[in-house]
Amino acid sequence: MHEYEHGRYDLLVVGSANADLVIGVERRPAPGETVLGSDLAVHPGGKGANQAVAAARLGAGAALLARVGDDAHGRLLLESQRAAGVDTAGVLVGGAPTGVALITVDPSGDNSIVVSPGANARLTPQDVRAAGSLLAAARVVSVQLEIPLETVAEVARTVSSDTRFVLNPSPPAPLPEQVLAVCDPLVVNEHEALFILGGTAGDTPEDRARGLLALGPRSVVVTLGAAGALVADSRTGDLVRVPSPKVDAVDTTGAGDAFTAALAWRLGRGEGLLEAAEFAVQVGAAAVTRKGAQDSFPTADEVSAL
Ligand code: ADP
Repeated sequence: MHEYEHGRYDLLVVGSANADLVIGVERRPAPGETVLGSDLAVHPGGKGANQAVAAARLGAGAALLARVGDDAHGRLLLESQRAAGVDTAGVLVGGAPTGVALITVDPSGDNSIVVSPGANARLTPQDVRAAGSLLAAARVVSVQLEIPLETVAEVARTVSSDTRFVLNPSPPAPLPEQVLAVCDPLVVNEHEALFILGGTAGDTPEDRARGLLALGPRSVVVTLGAAGALVADSRTGDLVRVPSPKVDAVDTTGAGDAFTAALAWRLGRGEGLLEAAEFAVQVGAAAVTRKGAQDSFPTADEVSAL
């Protein structure tokens, strides 16, 4: 589709694809109880699928390496990727049902979520090795943790020195040194930063960014919600806050995915980390002005209009 000059993709996302099944409820059922809810809404989601769509909508040449089931949810996910312009040649089909997030939303807007990883848990290191040409064709590879850690580690081992490895460790899990060492950047929100640093977190975002850099990544980006992001680069010694534009936040679902995809894409286009983060906070801010995850991701024109 958007194959770029030299046959290279700006961005390959290796990650999860889920069907988000959402029901509004007045209150959650107690054990053994049944409650009635709203009509079911089914949305394409999963951090990997979200990032690929976010990047493609901005105009990136994006591809997705993921696994879905041979079922209706898998077809929904493939369809939404293709509609956004993502190359889906790397989406593997079968082996388990498509991953599902069962989401109930109460009147205060609080979510309760059960995730069945399904096919995401079957994306193996072998699948990564078999996708070697796709990996070699990417300027940037972006990964999250909704797929097995050994698969993430295989991507980290496989990327060549001229491909940038971007990791958003979400949901947070202990990371092998060998994975941390190739992150450029490691992208975390404050919750993920606290998880990774544990008792050594320090009080300020700057403390946390320094603490994370000490674990080995070449660079770190800490996202700060409405406050924007903090960029730390071990090569330049930069430790810089990037403020977010002020917007009326309606729904922050997927904001981190939109931010990371925008950042990774711009890095793939050759921008510096700071410049890429300045663009990414605008994309994150645009994404929170609309409801939903993939539905909320802006085009490049919508970002310029902000
Ligand atoms: P996550 O969505 O992973 O929890 P954050 O809440 O830090 O991560 O949000 C990620 C990015 O989305 C921020 O860096 C910022 O660019 C944007 N963002 C999130 N919330 C807001 C907000 N209320 N106003 C403007 N931008 C926001």
